[in-house]
Amino acid sequence: MPDKLTNSLRRRQRALIRTLPDLTAVLRGSLIERYKRCGKPGCRCAQGRGHGPKYYLSVSKPGQRPEMDYVPQKFLEKVQEHLDNFRKTKLILEELCEINRELLRRREKP
Ligand SMILES: [Zn+2]
Repeated sequence: MPDKLTNSLRRRQRALIRTLPDLTAVLRGSLIERYKRCGKPGCRCAQGRGHGPKYYLSVSKPGQRPEMDYVPQKFLEKVQEHLDNFRKTKLILEELCEINRELLRRREKP
């Protein structure tokens, strides 16, 4: 018979899984803001910081330069939401792994 703590760990697992975001709506990376000077003579941007902001999704990969994708304004909110979903998912997975490690230490099936 599993004891009380094991049962509560299992309950916590199920509760965590119910809070998982929609996994079809995740993105990893960060949003980067850029201002660009167009180079047209006399354009006001020559004095200021440039036109923008324009947004890019920057995704880092080990041993490589980050990949940048332009994010059109109308996708900005969705992209932010997806990035947020990924962060939440990561935290939930991290906690699930901790629980499974505890179960393993208790010689329960993780
Ligand atoms: Zn300009």
